[in-house]
Amino acid sequence: MPMSDCIFCQIAQGKIPSEMVYEDDQVIAFKDIHPLAPVHLLVIPKLHLRSLNDVTPEQEPLIAHLFGVIRRLASELNVADSGYRVVTNTGADGGQVVGHLHFHLLGGKALNAEIG
Ligand code: 5GP
Ligand code: ZN
Repeated sequence: MPMSDCIFCQIAQGKIPSEMVYEDDQVIAFKDIHPLAPVHLLVIPKLHLRSLNDVTPEQEPLIAHLFGVIRRLASELNVADSGYRVVTNTGADGGQVVGHLHFHLLGGKALNAEIG
């Protein structure tokens, strides 16, 4: 059930434009509007889940599929060998701003080693 007040649900439905780079029946990937690296994608389930905390055991295959998509996109965007980072900010201390589960795929430059 898409949430009408959720930015990423609206992007998944095409109601808010985005630079979409991948779509299947369960997952989309689009460019982050404020890229922090030459490659900065957001990979999300179409299903509205607020964060990783919302994922049930039954939904774990969906997350496994999503990581397969991330791995293939990293390869297609030529960062598989140079290296990349996958991040999911969760909750207030995690710095999560958008309340729809998303995974940042960052690459194309040497990223800051600091992660905390
Ligand atoms: P987080 O919730 O993990 O802190 O990050 C949310 C990310 O979503 C940010 O990197 C931000 O730039 C991105 N973002 C927020 N609103 C939009 C939007 O409307 N379109 C796109 N493409 N990215 C967005
Ligand atoms: Zn949503």
